[in-house]
Amino acid sequence: MRDRFGREITYLRISVTERCNLRCRYCMPEEGICKKRHDEMLTEEELLTAVRAAASLGMRKIRLTGGEPLVKRNLLSICEGISAVPGIEELCLTTNATMLTDMAEELRKAGVSHINISLDTLDPHKYAWITRRGSLREAMEGIEAALGAGFEKVKFNAVLIGGFNDDEIPALAELTRKWPADMRFIEMMPMSGNKEFGQEAYIPYTKVLEALPELVPAADSDGVAKLYRLPGALGCVGLISPINAHFCRSCNRLRLTSDGKLKPCLHSAAEFPIKGLDEAGMKAQFEAAVYGKPEWHGNLSVVERSHAARRMNQIGG
Ligand code: SAM
Ligand code: SF4
Repeated sequence: MRDRFGREITYLRISVTERCNLRCRYCMPEEGICKKRHDEMLTEEELLTAVRAAASLGMRKIRLTGGEPLVKRNLLSICEGISAVPGIEELCLTTNATMLTDMAEELRKAGVSHINISLDTLDPHKYAWITRRGSLREAMEGIEAALGAGFEKVKFNAVLIGGFNDDEIPALAELTRKWPADMRFIEMMPMSGNKEFGQEAYIPYTKVLEALPELVPAADSDGVAKLYRLPGALGCVGLISPINAHFCRSCNRLRLTSDGKLKPCLHSAAEFPIKGLDEAGMKAQFEAAVYGKPEWHGNLSVVERSHAARRMNQIGG
């Protein structure tokens, strides 16, 4: 499927749940999460029908996200179902890794090929602060399990936060020398619900280049990230800049929320419902969402916040 601006849409990000075992300060509020009714959410069969509809329209890559996908009871069965859909070439998962120790191998066996792990800090106290309730030790155990489970690719994501982890850019990048994995730094996005951070927390990706003058550009690219490499490193350092160098021109994705809304753009309020539809009805909604994809997400800043009418845990990042 091509959109009105000539972009080929081949990638669907599915939030399988809004729920999470952590409460990262840039993503979710501490309290007041209003749990949706079970019958408002997509069933496993509806989710798989949506993937079949997407694949028949040329989508090739699926990413499962959330909330925390590992809290979803039937996650393995969902993964097996998606892997069996003809046309789907890549099944990816984004997780905070704190529940991964017992699940990494099973996820690999269920068809997950690529895994992205959120890791904003290497300091246990800072980890507990930013996640409000997480344990860095559990995340590290999950990471070790992921590295040993035979995924085609493991990537780490750190949200760049001025005054919180900008002093850890070199230490986080050093992980690419220790492990055959990429470390990607993502500019923090000002969502409507995360007003906790002031202007000084929103630092640009160029801070990473300043902190790591030894980085050299890497020839390969991973879509949204500009890739660099530390001399002798096993993995790349990626810079993802939704704010200061947005990548909307090459955006190839749609998003599907756990309550069955297709989102053409992370930062737009537009949504196309698919819950309750059969495969033909879902296909029509995918086509409408692709047609409705905006050219870019508009300016984003502390004052011009995202127009997405949802928190990040409800969209999937
Ligand atoms: N729970 C999983 C995790 O944390 O990896 C998956 C869902 S989480 C919403 C997906 C990604 O969104 C994570 O890498 C997280 O750091 C990122 N994210 C959440 N809020 C963000 C924000 N305000 N700006 C930039 N990235 C954000
Ligand atoms: Fe949960 Fe991921 Fe959001 Fe953190 S970023 S609160 S782990 S959904």
